[in-house]
Amino acid sequence: ERPFEVEAVRADFPSLHQEVHPGRPLIYFDSAATSLKPDSVVQALDAYMAVYPSNVHRGLHVLSERATEAFEDAREAVASFLGVEDSARVIFTRGTTESINAVAMSWARSALQPGDAILLSELEHHSNLVPWQMVAKEKGLELRFAEITDDARLEMDAIEAALTDRVRLIAVTAMSNVTGTLPPLADIMDLARRRGIRVLIDAAQGLPHGDLDIRRLDPDFVAFSGHKILGPTGVGVLYAKRELLEAMPPFMTGGSMVVRVTRDSAEWNDLPWKFEAGTPPIGEAIALAAALRYLAAFPADQVAAHERSLLEHAHEVLGRIPGLRIVGPTDPAKKGPIASFTMEEAHPHDLAQLLDRHGVAIRAGHHCTMPLHTRLGIPASARASFSLYNTTDEIDRLGEALESIRAMFRRRASKPTPAAARQ
Ligand code: PMP
Repeated sequence: ERPFEVEAVRADFPSLHQEVHPGRPLIYFDSAATSLKPDSVVQALDAYMAVYPSNVHRGLHVLSERATEAFEDAREAVASFLGVEDSARVIFTRGTTESINAVAMSWARSALQPGDAILLSELEHHSNLVPWQMVAKEKGLELRFAEITDDARLEMDAIEAALTDRVRLIAVTAMSNVTGTLPPLADIMDLARRRGIRVLIDAAQGLPHGDLDIRRLDPDFVAFSGHKILGPTGVGVLYAKRELLEAMPPFMTGGSMVVRVTRDSAEWNDLPWKFEAGTPPIGEAIALAAALRYLAAFPADQVAAHERSLLEHAHEVLGRIPGLRIVGPTDPAKKGPIASFTMEEAHPHDLAQLLDRHGVAIRAGHHCTMPLHTRLGIPASARASFSLYNTTDEIDRLGEALESIRAMFRRRASKPTPAAARQ
């Protein structure tokens, strides 16, 4: 264990130490899109690339054995991070998107019947929506939606209201990537267990931030991405109940996932390899393990407290700017470290572009949640998302930059237009 100290943490992230424009050091508030990576992750990937860039499971030579060992160790590291024992239930995928698609294409296709329903929430990322739309069309399933409140909270009442006897799966995010909303997962699990409904948790945003207790919740499926939790792109995880994985057909076929192949038939390999066709993201999985070890070295409550203080500060600073509206829950204690907002004077894309000139990286758009933005009555939002390496000082600088951008827009708006001046 290592006590959490933000300056020491910042020293571990090489990408933080650069100016993105002359005199403008990077302020990175785009961790919900992808997080920065600590040195240990860079080094883990580099060591794989430079020293033992070998394929796994097949070779009998030293480098292949080393790669295989590191890759399978990475699986153990994921299980240990999730607090679970059976690492054969940890399937490496390319990311959350592939993990959810796998469940849709394999489990939903084989286990659900026409007329069955899948319950989602209005908060969901396109990757926890479009795969279900596809399988619903193909199989004649119904998609049902738990409605959110005007401030984007998801309450049990709404989930119960959307429930029918035909709901076989609840697929819900652990944290909205726009509003930071934290759905009541423990209550959802209780309800699902009582009613014999399966649950998939999209943990892409929830897992990197604190207290998502997978062991205690014990959902049927969990999906997450390496690159949002301090690891590299190209690797993610599907963690699922053993009996489900055993019954599920592979969603992708090819090498490694088979034990015996004839001209016209094949026999599947054991878990987890049955679901890992082809050469897996070896270096990426190894580097993901380094990321999880990095994060796990800090007391989780200290990291969570730091991120909470960042969010509280962000709500305070952004809340002081006239015309700025934070979308989603107003109480920072009830959400994850994400502040999305709109500003009367400026389109989110303009905000993002102008903030970039101040060295501040945020994201603008619909953040792959078009139905959520439609529900909130806005075409787009600007999103500042925070991680353990951010500071309240950086948030002050975001506030100052937004103030100056707002002043600029107001000056422009109050100037007569050339056409008006001629009249
Ligand atoms: N779900 C949520 C809540 C997300 O924020 C994201 C990434 N923005 C995804 C799913 C998809 O993750 P990936 O693109 O890494 O597959």
